[in-house]
Amino acid sequence: MMLADIPANPIFPELVSNASILLVEDEEIIREMITIALQREGYRVTSVASGDEAVEILQSIGARKTEPTFDLVILDLMLPQVGGLDICRLLRYQNNFVPVLITSAKVTESDRVIGLDAGADDYLTKPFSTKELLARTRALLRRQTFQFFNKSSIYRFKEITLLSNERKAYLEGKELNLSPKEFRILELFITSPRRVWSREQLIEQVWGVDFLGDTKTVDVHIRWLREKLEVDPSQPKYINTVRGFGYRIG
Ligand code: CA
Repeated sequence: MMLADIPANPIFPELVSNASILLVEDEEIIREMITIALQREGYRVTSVASGDEAVEILQSIGARKTEPTFDLVILDLMLPQVGGLDICRLLRYQNNFVPVLITSAKVTESDRVIGLDAGADDYLTKPFSTKELLARTRALLRRQTFQFFNKSSIYRFKEITLLSNERKAYLEGKELNLSPKEFRILELFITSPRRVWSREQLIEQVWGVDFLGDTKTVDVHIRWLREKLEVDPSQPKYINTVRGFGYRIG
C-alpha cells in the first residue's frame, strides 16, 4: 500500500459536509443568498441578523461548553450595535478557536490587517461570488479537520510516516511490515525525536516492567527494525546507537 492510496479518514468528509456554520449578516438579501448556497452543500446553517444575536448565541455556548458548537463562523464586519470585529475578539477571548471568515465591503489593506489581527482566519471582500465563498468555506473546514487529524495521530520523521491510531508505518510512502513491538519502538522514537532511550527504558515501555528477559532483547528488535528501515543497517540513518546509553532516532 502506498501512502497516496490511504483512504481519507472516514471522519474527514463527514466533518466537512456536516459542518455547522454560524452566519452573521445584517443584509437580508445577502444573508439568504449565503444561507441557501451553504445549505445546498449540506452544511447546517444558523443565521442571525445582528451582532447582538450572535453574541447571545456565542456566550451561551461559552457558558455551557456544550452543543451546539460551530465549525465555522462567517461574519459580516459592518453590523449595527456589536460589530464583527468585537464578535471575533469575543470568540478568541473565550478561547474559542473556531475558524472565522470575515466578509466585508471594507477593502483597504489596513481593514484586512485589523480583521486578521482580531483573530479572523480569512477575509472575503464584498461583493463576492458564492463560488468563492464556498471554496473558502471548504478550505477553512479542511484545514481545521487536518489540524485535528494531525494532532491526533500522524507523525513524521524524515521519510518515515507513522499513523498511530491505525498502527501503520511508512517509509517513503511504502508501508513497512512491522511487528507490534517494532512498531511501538519506532513510535516511541518518533514521538520523542530528541530523546535518547536506554535499553531499560525501552523494555519498560515496550515489554512492561514485569519483563524477565534481558536487555539484549532490545538490541535484537532494534536490529530487526533497522533491517526494515535502513538502506544499510550497518550504517544506520534513522536509528542511531548512543554509545554507553542506548538508542535514539537521528
Ligand atoms: Ca453589513
